[in-house]
Amino acid sequence: MREHRIAVVGTPCEIMAASKLQYFTDSPIDVKLGLFCMENFSYKYFVNLLKEYDLKMDDIEKFRIEKGFVFLLLKTKETVKIPLSVAKRIIRKNCNICVELTSESSDISIGSIGSEDAWSTLIIRTEKGEEIVNGAIEDRFIESKEFTDSQFNLLNRIAESKISKNLENIERREFLARPVLYQREKTDDSIDNEFKEASFLDLRSNVIDVGACVLCGACEYACPHDIITIDDTKPRIKGECPDDCHACFAVCPRTFIPEDLRNDNSKAIGDFKKVLSVKSLKHTQGQDGSIVTTLIDYLLSKEIVTEALIVDKEDHLAWKPYAKLTNAIDDVISSGGTKYSVCPVFKPLRDLEEDSLQNVYEGVK
Ligand SMILES: Cc1cc2nc3c(=O)[nH]c(=O)nc-3n(C[C@H](O)[C@H](O)[C@H](O)COP(=O)(O)OP(=O)(O)OC[C@H]3O[C@@H](n4cnc5c(N)ncnc54)[C@H](O)[C@@H]3O)c2cc1C
Ligand code: SF4
Ligand code: SF4
Ligand code: SF4
Repeated sequence: MREHRIAVVGTPCEIMAASKLQYFTDSPIDVKLGLFCMENFSYKYFVNLLKEYDLKMDDIEKFRIEKGFVFLLLKTKETVKIPLSVAKRIIRKNCNICVELTSESSDISIGSIGSEDAWSTLIIRTEKGEEIVNGAIEDRFIESKEFTDSQFNLLNRIAESKISKNLENIERREFLARPVLYQREKTDDSIDNEFKEASFLDLRSNVIDVGACVLCGACEYACPHDIITIDDTKPRIKGECPDDCHACFAVCPRTFIPEDLRNDNSKAIGDFKKVLSVKSLKHTQGQDGSIVTTLIDYLLSKEIVTEALIVDKEDHLAWKPYAKLTNAIDDVISSGGTKYSVCPVFKPLRDLEEDSLQNVYEGVK
């Protein structure tokens, strides 16, 4: 058994990066817990937007997005609401060309759409996911109830609306700029040829410079020569690429996706085994049903995984996300709640086992 078996939590684009890391590298990622995600925001622009409401990030206890508004639950217990039509201008550019709501390449997807308050919607996608959810129900970590047809129809409708709106944005953007690569339906052979020709310069021109980068940090993690750095805005290079390396381009969630990992846009929530409404029997501090916190608690306490890669908040900058690798349940509990901005989630993996990345990119299987 491997020394490190890691559970990763992330948005659909981050989970696609995790899937590509599993596919192309000898990564320690074992379980993928995917979040639903309609859109995400720039931290810097969010801070500026709050100033228009005489607020600071530090005033906020919790964010919630529903029914066309961003609800800010303040530490004073008041609620301020910002119409999404206003918050639209601080949405990250890459989110407007994203055609996935429910983390379709995860083992288990979790969100709130369709479920009552304090419950979560959970999609089981893989056998591994099914085993984990059944175990967590049996051991009384979570309880579940059926997801009704009307709940399912609502989830499906919202997923379809995201896909169709953003496919239109893709068409509009492609009219002016380069093709959005991850939307190309290519065969594995032609993807293989593209990857073998590519290096960081291609990642820069086809993803980063056209506003498609999701800032996940998979390229930085996978670079066997350690010459990519990521700041708050984009990945940069600090050296020369050897001719035979294509790792960053291969693992990026916004370049070509191999057939096995590709979404089928005719299925709005992707392939799945079962959808349930679930609630935690152990934790209450989370964003919705505290299911992510509880499933990680289950995975760590049963030693199914050795660590979890979670997204916590910076101490010195309120609500600024940063990634943390931990095996301490207290860390997992304190990381509960949704941070509506991004950080390079794979950064902590770099310190873990640098040797394992030497074999990156051996071709599309
Ligand atoms: C940017 C964003 C947009 C979302 N949009 C929707 C939506 O439109 N509809 C919907 O139903 N659900 C959405 N979600 C998911 C929802 O907000 C909850 O995360 C989900 O329902 C799980 O709730 P929980 O109580 O089980 O999680 P908790 O037990 O509170 O755990 C939350 C986990 O999420 C992780 N996390 C928090 N912020 C981030 C982040 N920025 N990036 C990666 N991981 C993070 C933390 O590591 C933590 O472990 C979104 C999440 C994010 C991050
Ligand atoms: S690209 Fe944006 S909308 Fe799409 S999954 Fe990532 S954060 Fe969410
Ligand atoms: S060395 Fe390889 S992984 Fe690193 S930047 Fe260059 S092409 Fe990308
Ligand atoms: S360029 Fe790097 S940080 Fe940006 S989406 Fe691709 S892998 Fe992630």
